[in-house]
Amino acid sequence: MNIHEYQAKQLLKQYGVAVPAGDPCKTVEEARAAAERLFGAGHTLIVIKSQIHAGGRGKGTFTHGFKGGVKLAKSVEEAVDFATNMLGKTLVTKQTGPEGRVVQTILVAAAEKILKEFYLAVLLDRATSRPLIMASTEGGVEIEEVAEKSPEKILKEWVDPAVGIMPYQARKIASGLGLKGDVFNAAVKLIMGVYKTSWETDAAMVEINPLAIVETPSGKESIVCVDAKISLDDNALYRHADIQAMRDLAEESPLEIEASKFSLNYIKLDGSIACLVNGAGLAMSTMDIIQHFGGMPANFLDVGGGASKDQVSAAFKIILSDPNVKAIFVNIFGGIMDCNVIATGIVEAVKETGLKLPLVVRLEGNNVAAGKATLAASGLTIISGDTMADAARKVVAAVAA
Ligand code: GDP
Ligand code: MG
Repeated sequence: MNIHEYQAKQLLKQYGVAVPAGDPCKTVEEARAAAERLFGAGHTLIVIKSQIHAGGRGKGTFTHGFKGGVKLAKSVEEAVDFATNMLGKTLVTKQTGPEGRVVQTILVAAAEKILKEFYLAVLLDRATSRPLIMASTEGGVEIEEVAEKSPEKILKEWVDPAVGIMPYQARKIASGLGLKGDVFNAAVKLIMGVYKTSWETDAAMVEINPLAIVETPSGKESIVCVDAKISLDDNALYRHADIQAMRDLAEESPLEIEASKFSLNYIKLDGSIACLVNGAGLAMSTMDIIQHFGGMPANFLDVGGGASKDQVSAAFKIILSDPNVKAIFVNIFGGIMDCNVIATGIVEAVKETGLKLPLVVRLEGNNVAAGKATLAASGLTIISGDTMADAARKVVAAVAA
């Protein structure tokens, strides 16, 4: 699960990490009040930031022509103007795709003068099965770009999960970034805090880009997280009620939300052949075999090992609501799954939805004879495949025809 920047900053703050003062706002009036508070507290510059689950906002453009999803304001009036141009408007960035995202919330925050930008992240390194801290002096740009052009500028520090981060590791990174004096000490504290946030929240990734050295109103240097992104491990969300409450359904694909209501693992893809499969491994090989025969899968869908008739029926409706779908491929290997449950669910869903698209079914395993009998007795036009390859060939041919 992903959360917004302002929520990530709230979590970081709980673990003692320095973040700029600011408030999330849902209306222009709230934004005006927040801007007045910040200027009233002595800040001379504030920043208005569109909150969407995608990066590249600074360089993004709104569909009504307004440029920039992150804007600096020197007055309340300027802040109000930016808020008006962002709230309820659609922002397109490199990461949103051409359809963009509607900005429902903006973050109105203090904007200190940035002297230097860095990159800092904690992620899981699958190769070593350890948390990895990555840092770079090349902040504000995409890390993939740095990795490609100047990989030597990326510092890496692996943490032993049983021991946790050791202070010397944070010092090594701070010194690698060339920090000195008070800023060095502040950075060590900040790096330890970012690691702690990542560990305690069961994050898959915490990314601070940019982490910035700023000049405070009193003329001193300090280090703060100017941007923050946290992705959480869905499998650990059950133990974080506070983080679960941060879920923003408006940022998720409606079909994927519907699927999660029925505990279905559904991921929308761009092809034309919808798949309904039991088991993640079989679902993956189903997508492979479709491509092998020249087709493109419209989705990944695993209905699980013990799906009910209602889940199958819901799954069917979900894959059908994708307008790109031209044919359906049901590929079931009944281990625990009863083939007749699947068959009954399919027949019900086909009748309810008045399906007109070609439907190819390959059933095998537990109670397969009863399943096939249910399909035959339904009177529906179903193309049956004898093997997985046979069925895949037939569904690809059906789309081509
Ligand atoms: P992103 O484009 O979605 O990654 O959003 P960021 O939060 O990283 O903002 C983009 C850029 O705007 C940053 O790299 C900064 O240069 C600038 N920016 C963002 N917040 C501040 C701020 O508080 N002060 C200043 N001076 N610049 C900021
Ligand atoms: Mg950023």
